[in-house]
Amino acid sequence: MDYIREKAPPVREDRLKACSAYGGSCCSLVDKGRKGCLNGIDRKFAQTQICQLNLSLAIINTIRDIVVIVHGPIGCAGGSLAQAGVNKNFKQLRDSTSRGLLWVNTNLGENEVINGGENNLREAILYADKEFRPSAIVIVNSCVPAIIGDDVDSVVEQAQKEVEAKIVPVHCEGFKTKIAATAYDAVYHGILRSLITTEPAQVQDTRDEFEILQEKYRASRTINVLNVSSMSRIDEYELVRLLKALDLNLNILPCYAHPEDFQKATESALNVSICATHDDYFSEHLKTLFNIPFILRTIPIGVKYTNRWLLDIAKFFDIEKQAQQFIDQEVKLLEEGLAPFREIFKGKRALIGGGEIRVIANAELLTYLGFEVVGLRAYHYDQFGDEMLDEQAAIEQATFNVATGQPFEQANLIAKLKPDLFVGHVGGNVWAAKQGIPCAPLFHQSQLFLGYAGIYEFARRVARILKNPSFNRSLGANSQLPYFDNWYKKDAFSYIDEGDLQIRA
Ligand code: SF4
Repeated sequence: MDYIREKAPPVREDRLKACSAYGGSCCSLVDKGRKGCLNGIDRKFAQTQICQLNLSLAIINTIRDIVVIVHGPIGCAGGSLAQAGVNKNFKQLRDSTSRGLLWVNTNLGENEVINGGENNLREAILYADKEFRPSAIVIVNSCVPAIIGDDVDSVVEQAQKEVEAKIVPVHCEGFKTKIAATAYDAVYHGILRSLITTEPAQVQDTRDEFEILQEKYRASRTINVLNVSSMSRIDEYELVRLLKALDLNLNILPCYAHPEDFQKATESALNVSICATHDDYFSEHLKTLFNIPFILRTIPIGVKYTNRWLLDIAKFFDIEKQAQQFIDQEVKLLEEGLAPFREIFKGKRALIGGGEIRVIANAELLTYLGFEVVGLRAYHYDQFGDEMLDEQAAIEQATFNVATGQPFEQANLIAKLKPDLFVGHVGGNVWAAKQGIPCAPLFHQSQLFLGYAGIYEFARRVARILKNPSFNRSLGANSQLPYFDNWYKKDAFSYIDEGDLQIRA
């Protein structure tokens, strides 16, 4: 893969033929995906969806020693400022001298829509450099300048001659795609083009031979762990614990990294992703540009996939025996810890909503814990889900809904499937909560989900929620969603082309 000469990456609808609308069974989804029949399925009616600029900022806002310039109207991505406190705290956990979020908006109004916003952008770059002296200035481009035709890259090229900071344009205009995960490609594209040089450094190495050999050995045992925004700080600790047990060194990026860390990443032996949805673009490019192999196959959630994640890494370093011994010890301890919860989970019905790979891994985890998984909702679907979904016989007839947002479909599904538990992202859980369903977060910045410790913590949280669901039951009894009764009598997928498959209730 090599899109680096392009100013912007392709959208995922084109690059991966990703699907944003589907309703049917898991096995039929895999089957249609493999036949290439998913790309292009659409809705006749749709509610709001995720803007990729906002998702881009979920990564960019965490990078240390940068100024973020939002090139757009003042409201663009304002919601992500709610995370500013978390961003600052977690940056300072990585480096106590880090500053909080530095954010400038070019404030495009009617005047700029007519006359162009390039002057505002140039002014913002010069101001950010002079005022804050950051290592990098990251510009996120919104819909308005893209529609009026601002030439962001020319402004950057000119301004770069006048400022010290490296300028990183990120083309993440919300209107360009329905697959919000395109944001990951947009951010990595900016990083690859502006923070990583492909030219070998012409610096004289003054170290002695022993030091050079030591450094080479360290690099040969170093892996880049890619921690795009859905890995909490505590998740990081757990993955560090697992990988240190295999005597490996880690570079963790892009979240909470410094701009200079990205160049160092090109010296590592291996790139390890926690989720292909996040990282295939970056990993593939580092393979093309620097010949660094990568592991993208799974996510370390649940016993099966944590084992697989570790064994894939161990295989690369030829330490599978050591890894297997470690895994056996961890799983034995975990089984003992989970024993008291199993009776609470037995036979309970669960519906899961969130990112493609994460919901499939959570389905495996919930099945392992004793739940019956009756449905999954993913923001989008592409080839990376096939292997994991295809191998889970327990959910092959479960309902799969591909939907970015679309809470009306979720409300209908919940009314029909009647789950005992909804596992989803914090913003989406509210709809299920208002239908009286106990909810557990699929991810939260302050909680642990990954690795063996993550399985235990997740089970502990879910057991507590299920033991006393009275809050959600009362909420459901006293609130109403804004849909007419006859919507619940219709097929949940009535507005999806080809959405005629029956839901297994
Ligand atoms: S969709 Fe466009 S206008 Fe709306 S927040 Fe995203 S970038 Fe801004």
